[in-house]
Amino acid sequence: MQTNEQGREGEEKDFSYQQLINPRELQRLQNEFCDVAGVCAFCVDAGGVKQTETSGNGQDVELIGRYVSDKAVEAALARVAEGSLEDLAVENLQVPDIKLAAVATKIEGKLVLTWLVSAALTEADGTEFGENGVPGVNRRITEKEFYRALDLLRDTSTTLFRNKLSCASAEAESLRRRFSEEEMKASMERIEAMTRVVQLLDSNEAIEAVMGRVMQIAGEYLKASNATLYSVYPDKDRMDVVYEWCNTGVVSGFDRTKNLDVFEFLNTDKPLVIGSDTLMAYGGNKELAELSIKALMIFPIMKGAAGNMYACFQQLHTGRIWKVEEVKFVADATKVLQSILTKRIQKNSLASSYVSLEAVLDNLGCGIYVTDAANGRVLFANRQLKNTFARELKEGTFTRLIESGTPAAQHIGTYEVRHGDRERWYDLLVTEISWVDGRKASLHSLYDVTDKKIYQRKIEQQAYTDFLTGLYNRMCCERDLAWHIDDARKRGVQGGILYLDLDDFKHINDGLGHQYGDVLLKSISGSLQRIEGIKSTCYRMGGDEFVIVIPPESYRDFERIIDEIRTIFSKPWYLRDSDYYCTMSMGIVTFPDDGENVQDLIKKADIAMYEAKKMGKNRMAKYSDSLESLSGKRLDMEKNMRDATTEGYSEFEVYYQPIIDISQQDTPCTGAEALIRWNSAEMGAIPPAEFIPLAEYLGLINPIGNHVLEEACKACKYWNENGYPGYKVNVNLSVIQLLQPDIVETVRHTIKKTGVRPHNLTLEVTESLAINDMERMKEILSHIKKLGVRIALDDFGTGYSSLNHIREIPFDVIKVDQSFVKDLAEDAYSQSFIKMVAELAATLGASICVEGIETQAQYKVLEGMKVRMVQGYYFDRPMTRSEFENKYLTA
Ligand code: C2E
Ligand code: CA
Ligand code: CA
Repeated sequence: MQTNEQGREGEEKDFSYQQLINPRELQRLQNEFCDVAGVCAFCVDAGGVKQTETSGNGQDVELIGRYVSDKAVEAALARVAEGSLEDLAVENLQVPDIKLAAVATKIEGKLVLTWLVSAALTEADGTEFGENGVPGVNRRITEKEFYRALDLLRDTSTTLFRNKLSCASAEAESLRRRFSEEEMKASMERIEAMTRVVQLLDSNEAIEAVMGRVMQIAGEYLKASNATLYSVYPDKDRMDVVYEWCNTGVVSGFDRTKNLDVFEFLNTDKPLVIGSDTLMAYGGNKELAELSIKALMIFPIMKGAAGNMYACFQQLHTGRIWKVEEVKFVADATKVLQSILTKRIQKNSLASSYVSLEAVLDNLGCGIYVTDAANGRVLFANRQLKNTFARELKEGTFTRLIESGTPAAQHIGTYEVRHGDRERWYDLLVTEISWVDGRKASLHSLYDVTDKKIYQRKIEQQAYTDFLTGLYNRMCCERDLAWHIDDARKRGVQGGILYLDLDDFKHINDGLGHQYGDVLLKSISGSLQRIEGIKSTCYRMGGDEFVIVIPPESYRDFERIIDEIRTIFSKPWYLRDSDYYCTMSMGIVTFPDDGENVQDLIKKADIAMYEAKKMGKNRMAKYSDSLESLSGKRLDMEKNMRDATTEGYSEFEVYYQPIIDISQQDTPCTGAEALIRWNSAEMGAIPPAEFIPLAEYLGLINPIGNHVLEEACKACKYWNENGYPGYKVNVNLSVIQLLQPDIVETVRHTIKKTGVRPHNLTLEVTESLAINDMERMKEILSHIKKLGVRIALDDFGTGYSSLNHIREIPFDVIKVDQSFVKDLAEDAYSQSFIKMVAELAATLGASICVEGIETQAQYKVLEGMKVRMVQGYYFDRPMTRSEFENKYLTA
């Protein structure tokens, strides 16, 4: 119990940021960082106290350290101090080639710690510093590298502490919950125990048995070691043990019960409460120590000619501090006990019995009133009841209030009474007793349980709310949905469920960091909640999945609601100083048409959502029964795909579709696009459009894509060495692959391993990817280009219109999407689109490739344009490597 008290204290004050710092962890991070970045660093907390030893190349730490004066450190620290807007400051030192920077980690404006980073730089052109530089430094980096290292450190450190902070606050929250739950449980137990005690007022059992019951109930409630009734002889030096209750595992200390030496501590007229904390101050210390009593409560019950009776509760061996409620409980229980005794002793004297009973009932911690069982007339009401319900009693509304919670005739039992005007709740317990004059009566006890109720609601609220976004959560969704379905079925109306899953949310999370992912989730939640008609029916199911229930009331606005949701996702979100698009895929079901069971409906909505994903994301799909069979297939596919990747890719085969140069007379082949085929032993041939989305979803696209890349490079190398040195190979790269941190390394490695000429390899990337995190894409693609590899923009014209991106990213080839070719022969728009792209490509120095040429008519239209490269069934379909080589390697 003591630990509880301490815990509560700790939780009230805001936990300090200092607590989040773990110097060992920081040291490890810092060592690693300095090693990789080529800098020296140490870190200090918000109070300026050093938390880590300086890391970096051993000699350099010493050498560079000589030029980093305390004054410079102080100046840098001052610039990033709390309250300052800067979190990164670079100081110039006496020597030109050494720099010192302070990098502050601030969470919610509060300084947590500051890194002091120093490094030896090279000249701007990357060469060693001349005579002005510090001689003998082992490791130097460029200024650009230095700044990048600082940025990285700042971001990593901030993310680290943000995560820690949210973990810490979640922990504090759960701690708080646990305590309140304990409190609530304790109050329930107290009310229950007290009710049982009060019921004994009317017991017909032998008085000893009744007294024993009271002691037992109280002892159990307290979880004390034992509860004993002593009767001390009038001369006060002997005593009897009238009753003793021992907790499980506690052995009675008495070998007889009559005529014992009296305990010193029973020499009291007043209640005596001794806890472990006051034990020392209490005089009878020695006696208690001998008896191993660590805490004790004594309540005198009766003074009489036969002696004095005491109820005594003891805690043995382990320390204990009685809580206020526990002391009050025992006080109340002993009052009831007094009353029972008085009643029995003075059985024949009606008046005195009434007075003593009244005295007891008046002092109980709950409202009590007694009615005549025959006519309902109130025979008695105790003080607490009169105080609490003074107005109701005066206005005559009290009985109505009580009856609102009980069945027509007041029966024995426990009921809940709600006082609407006052917003208070009571537990009402009705028992039958015989009143002091012998007539049958009903005893009503009213316990105020408002705090408990409010607490219960709060807990419920918390349990149903998503911590991050403030939306309702999955649990709440399931509860509400059950109600809506039931309601719709009963009224014969319709409702809908929209299952939303963000497309490629992982990219934002991985690319920008979790904190921005969180920001995005919160912004989306906010926007969804603002849509009229679904304000209180938006739920976050976890991760990047949301469910929106369209209740029957809003069902006629179905179209409008969907439109508004789609509008939300058609606009960019501003995150870390640029715009990001985030689309979503949506599955739709209606109820009760599509199902009457919550789990079933959510599953069906999920199936439909997945269908939307598979169709290429950023769209919606409505559930139909035929989809369900597809979902079984998806599970099969997942398993089979995992097997196929672990079993050496033998089920995958790379096909090649020739790319034709139509600017020349004999339209020669210039190489091929590698297109994967999956011949599943279990499921037959599966077209890439069907399994690639799943492979991306499962992350399996990485190994599969690497396999294709390697196969294609090998093939190209072979063609180049066998008479066609100019043949190029195109390989499709999924966005997921492109976002792998090691993608540049993978490409470099594959080129090296296969020996293909980098210039003969073209990587095709799709347009939509360029939207999310342009900067990052630009950087990755420029690294790939540095390897000598060419980059093609695939499916141009389908995604977001992003002519800007074409300018920003130096693509070598632009591939116009097949959809423009379909009606090319007839459609003026398609013609001018291709013409325009061709012109644009020409001015940018890129070439254009048109895909999907199926007819001569389509081909003829292209002839007049600046299009050189084409692909399509009109020339050839994708074919196996040997087919390709038989046909196009004839030299
Ligand atoms: P894509 O990159 O746009 O590839 C062109 C698709 O058009 C290929 O479909 C090709 O067979 C088809 N095609 C070529 N000429 C014609 C024509 O004249 N008419 C019609 N109707 N279609 C034509 P395929 O092989 O089914 O591939 C579909 C998509 O799957 C590809 O579209 C590409 O996005 C993806 N894919 C294929 N292989 C790979 C791969 O190895 N890695 C990745 N990441 N994606 C791949
Ligand atoms: Ca392609
Ligand atoms: Ca394409």
